Amino acid sequence: MNIVPISAFTDNYIWCLHLNDRRAIVVDPGDPEVVEAYLAANNIELAGILVTHHHFDHTGGIEALTNASSVAVIGPENSPFSGLTQTVRHGSELMFESLDIKVLAVPGHTLDHVAYYIPQLEALFCGDTLFSGGCGRVFEGTFAQMRKSLASLRELPVTTSVYCAHEYTAANLKFALAVDPDNSDLQARVAQVSRLRQLDKPTLPTTLGEERRSNPFLRWDAPAIIGSAQRKEPVQDADDVFRVIRQWKDSF
Ligand SMILES: [Zn+2]
Repeated sequence: MNIVPISAFTDNYIWCLHLNDRRAIVVDPGDPEVVEAYLAANNIELAGILVTHHHFDHTGGIEALTNASSVAVIGPENSPFSGLTQTVRHGSELMFESLDIKVLAVPGHTLDHVAYYIPQLEALFCGDTLFSGGCGRVFEGTFAQMRKSLASLRELPVTTSVYCAHEYTAANLKFALAVDPDNSDLQARVAQVSRLRQLDKPTLPTTLGEERRSNPFLRWDAPAIIGSAQRKEPVQDADDVFRVIRQWKDSF
């Protein structure tokens, strides 16, 4: 079973999950052409589409990809996107061949945002909620909602591979260093990511263990992050810490 990034637009990844030699699922196909090209080049039939949230760079390719066939398009029940054939909610489980996919509601970036977790593969497809070294902007939900969503992802096994929808790692780590300058795990990661980007290689997937050590948006309870937030404004609780660093990132 392999999971391949298909690059789209300037920095999106459409993840292609191979079910076997002939069939695959794609996650958040914003651009139909790169997906069609990949499927044709590898002689793969599209077995299904998973949607994490309604933003156009995640859904814009679905109509074209499903025109010619009746592919299942699975996404959140409260999504404003109208092209779903099957809806899911927090706690839903999907079966694709031998794969069991669990759905977690992770509102904040958008209200309809879900993540897909596959225990057998220790793989998490989290769209624009958790990024490598960062997290999505809070557009539709509240900061408290977003932190709670990230907290639920943080509970997954540390060995989980995290498949985010954008290549934002280098910029995220630059901000992370401003928040958490003495973190040696973070410093090591900056050097590693810089080498990968020089070779034009993806920095994804990341692991939940790595994110827990070096992503400030999963570290609202670490003394270094609390201290950095506190120097911006007085903080009372974890939600405050998260809000202050998320707003700091928005203007970074
Ligand atoms: Zn988005």
